[in-house]
Amino acid sequence: TQEQLIQAQKMEAIGRLAGGVAHDFNNLLTGIQGFTELSLMKIKEHDPVYQDIKEIHRCALQAASLTRQLLLFSRKQPMDMKPIDLNITIQNMIKMLNRLIGENISLKTELIDGLWPTETDPGNIEQVIMNLVINARDAMPEGGEILISTQNIHIDESYLKIQPEARCGNFICLSVKDTGIGMDQKTLKHIFEPFFTTKEPGIGTGLGLSVVYGIVKQHQGWIEVESFKGQGTTFRVYLPAIPLKPIKDKESLVSLEAFKG
Ligand code: ADP
Repeated sequence: TQEQLIQAQKMEAIGRLAGGVAHDFNNLLTGIQGFTELSLMKIKEHDPVYQDIKEIHRCALQAASLTRQLLLFSRKQPMDMKPIDLNITIQNMIKMLNRLIGENISLKTELIDGLWPTETDPGNIEQVIMNLVINARDAMPEGGEILISTQNIHIDESYLKIQPEARCGNFICLSVKDTGIGMDQKTLKHIFEPFFTTKEPGIGTGLGLSVVYGIVKQHQGWIEVESFKGQGTTFRVYLPAIPLKPIKDKESLVSLEAFKG
């Protein structure tokens, strides 16, 4: 629809703006980081300003991590594309995800046999899954269930009428479903914008979904969200399948080292 198209253009514009700002800020932050490190080497630990400079250094590091997220969102980072079996990626993440969500939330999977392979940056896709699961967790403070599932799907012309961001062809669909608080229409409109959050300051940065959006866009995919207030939310991520051929290099299937919290 027209509204979705405008939304996509808006995201594009925000992305470009944020990317430009993040890039320049990153350079400045590198300066702050470097000079505080130099200063710290020149003074003794018991010097009254030592702790102050250390604090500046800590803030600079934190700011650098924010700008990194923004750069991811604005797709300024080069990707390292590899053919992967997303089912394997998910299976390899289960243990870590279970630790992340805690004991009062149960994590289930429905991974279809014969999932088409897809070409992705494995580290980035893990980030997508992790961000969606973290949001699902945060939506269920009283506990609940998260279902991660995969599917093969063929998109044809008729689909483009309801989803202008879609493209024709073979895609795989990753869905993350929760039984949490859900969202109203007003919230749904803004969730992919950087810094939009309904969480407490310090808990939410509002960057999780904008990073997800940027990564999925860069993979030539798109995202659909279905949410009902008080019932739960489903995020569906569509990624292009690559023409069927067996993946020879099992080693290249996953790289969990790519992310460290
Ligand atoms: P953050 O998690 O830091 O708030 P995000 O960009 O990941 O930033 O999410 C933006 C907002 O979208 C959240 O603050 C929340 O209001 C909403 N949201 C995202 N995922 C869900 C979900 N699974 N259930 C309910 N609300 C969600």
